[in-house]
Amino acid sequence: MNNSRQFGGSPFSNNNSEIMCRICHEGESKEELFSFCKCSGTVAMAHRSCLEKWLSTANSSACEICKFNFQTSRRPRPILDWFRNTDSSQDTNNLIGDLVCFIVLSPLTIVSCYLCVVGASHYMVKRGVSWEASGLIVLSVILATVYCVWLGATVRHHVRTMKKWQESHQSVELISVRNTIINLEENNNDSTNNSMRTDLQSI
Ligand SMILES: [Zn+2]
Ligand SMILES: [Zn+2]
Repeated sequence: MNNSRQFGGSPFSNNNSEIMCRICHEGESKEELFSFCKCSGTVAMAHRSCLEKWLSTANSSACEICKFNFQTSRRPRPILDWFRNTDSSQDTNNLIGDLVCFIVLSPLTIVSCYLCVVGASHYMVKRGVSWEASGLIVLSVILATVYCVWLGATVRHHVRTMKKWQESHQSVELISVRNTIINLEENNNDSTNNSMRTDLQSI
């Protein structure tokens, strides 16, 4: 008997002709089906890739029905996936908007500060320390400070958003699928033995 099928119950589609995956509702023509947890009946079987994708999306390591804990390994996805992911399209648009602002504001700030400093030195040479020179220096300092604060806050926001996305969209790999199945078998046998022991004790 195939180990992968022994906890399957009746995992058939409505027409009772094909075993189907509980996630994508496709049969074994797509990929081999396994029973990874203690669920039975129509929700017993799943494709490995479907289950891994679901665990990644749900950010969980347990079956949502029988609460069985899968043995998984998780690793952060490459940041390039963040750009490709449709869930983060709003964040991607925000990043593009901020990049455009950065490209426009950076030269504007640098040129403005430069002109302020040149103007201030011009007034200093002509009139010494005057209100015009002081005003231009203060203006350039304010411009540079506002630009740096905006840049820092924007970079921090986008880095946080990406890290949050990476934490909640880790790529999940089911490890020791065979062990999981064997453990399930042992648990099943243990529970059978326990119930037999209980029955014997009650006699
Ligand atoms: Zn599937
Ligand atoms: Zn389950």
